[in-house]
Amino acid sequence: MTGIGPTICNPNPGFGLRVRLDHAKAKSLASADWSCPCLRPAEHAVGYDEVEQLVIRAERHMRDECPNEHVRAAAAMRSERRKQHARKRRK
Ligand SMILES: [Zn+2]
Repeated sequence: MTGIGPTICNPNPGFGLRVRLDHAKAKSLASADWSCPCLRPAEHAVGYDEVEQLVIRAERHMRDECPNEHVRAAAAMRSERRKQHARKRRK
């Protein structure tokens, strides 16, 4: 795995969070965009720090704030899987 944190994949293209960190020699070109199936306006970020903040905001929205229950369920599952993964690795 490369880049910051886990890469978040979305099985439904069109919605969700996309992070691009393939400019390894120019970190300022890291970029991400995010759109949610709910009516929340889409966001995008450019730059390493901005991308990180966007990822955190997006995950928090999808897990806790989104009015779409499918989005929340999927995000909760991702977060749970990540926790299990982390626990397994630490042992
Ligand atoms: Zn939403």
